[in-house]
Amino acid sequence: MTGSPKRPKHVPERTCIACKQKRAKWELVRIVRTVDGSLEIDPRGKKAGRGAYLCKLQECWEIGLKKKRLEYALKSQIAPEQRAGLLAFSKSLTNCVERPGVNSEVFCEGACG
Ligand SMILES: [Zn+2]
Repeated sequence: MTGSPKRPKHVPERTCIACKQKRAKWELVRIVRTVDGSLEIDPRGKKAGRGAYLCKLQECWEIGLKKKRLEYALKSQIAPEQRAGLLAFSKSLTNCVERPGVNSEVFCEGACG
């Protein structure tokens, strides 16, 4: 008897503030406003403070930063230099979903046109 029933693991989900898609927590990037008022990228999702989540897609960051969704989600103003910092971070993100296949091809989900 191998009596160890497998329980389905609970996957924490978060909603992207730009596209409103629910994704597993680790598929999103957390931005946190810390208690001292600074804005930080929180890759581990452990920092204290009010957080907001965005997909790892430039597109979502542009929407989040342009339409004041981040301000709304964090309930605070974002200084121009903080916005610039986030934009700079978003440049390191991709607009494509990379799925390395047999030929290491990159497939896009429409984001690259
Ligand atoms: Zn998104």
